[in-house]
Amino acid sequence: MQIVALDLEGVLVPEIWIAFSERTGIPELRRTTRDEPDYDKLMRFRLEILKKHGLGLLDIQRVIAQMGPEPGAKDFLDAIRTRHQVIILSDTFYEFAMPLMAQLGMPTLFCHRLETDASGFVTGYRLRMPDQKRASVRALKQLAFKVIAAGDSYNDTAMLAEAHAGILFRPPANVVAEFPQFPVVRDYPGLAAAIGEASRRIGE
Ligand SMILES: [Mg+2]
Repeated sequence: MQIVALDLEGVLVPEIWIAFSERTGIPELRRTTRDEPDYDKLMRFRLEILKKHGLGLLDIQRVIAQMGPEPGAKDFLDAIRTRHQVIILSDTFYEFAMPLMAQLGMPTLFCHRLETDASGFVTGYRLRMPDQKRASVRALKQLAFKVIAAGDSYNDTAMLAEAHAGILFRPPANVVAEFPQFPVVRDYPGLAAAIGEASRRIGE
């Protein structure tokens, strides 16, 4: 039995914070873990900026819904789901991802949660567990699945290594250079073909 684990941002949907920053014209929200390696500090900073601009969760969700998935993502996912069980493993939050998941046909998503106050402002976040992508793949293996994983970035490399087959999708050059063991694909037909190839190689 095989299962496909896909990253969300950068694979099926745009990078949410970056697209959100562009659509709202709030440049401070472009900051990523590359600029601020302390994730908790980065999130507190982001939540402060959202509050300062008077953006509650409903406003944020409205903007995210307008972003839409990447062109072709829904058709790709539908096709993969006719052949494989698929789980999306993401470090985003359900409250952010849901408007996009609705446009992707509501695939199964494992990610984290936001906390809001009575007036609808985001006050905090709760990571379900640290390193959940790798832990999820490991748990699926314990359930006797063979796992094919695909992602675009550093935070995916642990799950790619844990899986029976790992594939990089549109990765930045530094990730390609640092992880030459993973095949690199740059479009959905390429990703579908790489998943098919991995599926035949790792066997039932
Ligand atoms: Mg990603």
